[in-house]
Amino acid sequence: MDSTMSEHADVLIVGGGPVGALAALRLARQGRSVLLLEARAKDAEVRDARALALSWHSRRLLEEAGAWPADLPATAIDTVHVSQQGGCGRTRLDSADLGLPHLGAVVDYPALVAGLGGALEAAGVQVIWQCRVTAVKSLSQYACAEVETPQGKQLLTGSLLVLAEGGALAETLPGIRRLTHDYRQCALLAEVETELPPQGVAYERFAHAGPFALLPHGERYMLVWTRSQADAERLAAADAAVLRDELQQAFGERQGRILSIGPRASFPLALRQANRVTSGRVALIGNAAQTMHPVAAQGLNLGLRDAVGLADALENAADAGDARALKRYADSRKLDSHAVVGFTHGLIKLFDGHHPLMSRLRGVGMTALDALPSLRRKFAGHLVFGVRG
Ligand SMILES: Cc1cc2nc3c(=O)[nH]c(=O)nc-3n(C[C@H](O)[C@H](O)[C@H](O)COP(=O)(O)OP(=O)(O)OC[C@H]3O[C@@H](n4cnc5c(N)ncnc54)[C@H](O)[C@@H]3O)c2cc1C
Repeated sequence: MDSTMSEHADVLIVGGGPVGALAALRLARQGRSVLLLEARAKDAEVRDARALALSWHSRRLLEEAGAWPADLPATAIDTVHVSQQGGCGRTRLDSADLGLPHLGAVVDYPALVAGLGGALEAAGVQVIWQCRVTAVKSLSQYACAEVETPQGKQLLTGSLLVLAEGGALAETLPGIRRLTHDYRQCALLAEVETELPPQGVAYERFAHAGPFALLPHGERYMLVWTRSQADAERLAAADAAVLRDELQQAFGERQGRILSIGPRASFPLALRQANRVTSGRVALIGNAAQTMHPVAAQGLNLGLRDAVGLADALENAADAGDARALKRYADSRKLDSHAVVGFTHGLIKLFDGHHPLMSRLRGVGMTALDALPSLRRKFAGHLVFGVRG
């Protein structure tokens, strides 16, 4: 570790993914000393095939933090079209429903991380790269992190320690358990070229083999298809034409013929939700607080609101680890987190199975949403801005 690095900070943040980085920017703006600890090397290529659908609100949060440069490669979403295979009913959510220029945008994970990296540098936030946190502990006056860097092991302390590393360290803290549900499914990702260009329309389709999203990705689409683990393995190994034909059959001809399928990647899917998001002087945000199924594209949107919620709760606290401020954080995030996790998990259950009665009920639901503008606006508002009390 650089000998000029401080060993104590107001806030230690473990994990420099999008959520940890946004929290670091918001907390540094309050004049607090922040140390962001990231396992990755500074210049290491971020190899992650995820293309993330971010809501208009998330985009604004990133813009405010200087993390959405004008040249960030992003594709706008203006309409979300929801339908089910082999059943009636469909609904369209439109940016006009909310009076917004766009509903959101799709950004590749590495581009987003690069945008945040630029903002951290511009704001002068101290990041310790190649720094793996191996243990964390909360004491009465401070919290500490044991870290491993190429220079060796070290102990760092902070008035507050924020876990934004995905959650593996959370379970070592007193009182924290993570409810886990393994979906035994994978998300299969591939770029898809269709005969007609996307023109701002994202599709969410509940197909017999599993729900999929087609997210506008430049002139192409990014496919995120939930499949059984066996299916995902088969489709990742098979000729691209096999996936193309299955997708064409499940999707139909809305975008014309599917012309090509790019390299495939697969992510195992599980729900993990912490029973509480604070323990002593430690707070959990982003995937560390809740990791969810990507079916509704809500995980990062929710995580960014955690980062902002934490910074807002600490705004006037002299001690960053103040128990009342951390309680304010936990209370303020409960409704949004539970509603979004519940909605996402419920969606998987609701569309699981092909019983004709269930299919008809789903169709009625989508038709009602489509026909009732006030209901549709409310629903779209929750997806874009989160659930507020
Ligand atoms: C297939 C798929 C598609 C998705 N699509 C969407 C979408 O369209 N929209 C959406 O909102 N969400 C989506 N999500 C969810 C989204 O990817 C996550 O919610 C988001 O990445 C969480 O960000 P994070 O910063 O909390 O964690 P991460 O992105 O996991 O970042 C954690 C960081 O911590 C670092 N780290 C880990 N352990 C340590 C350690 N011990 N010490 C130091 N550093 C450490 C890692 O190197 C990493 O940089 C999707 C998820 C999947 C799997």
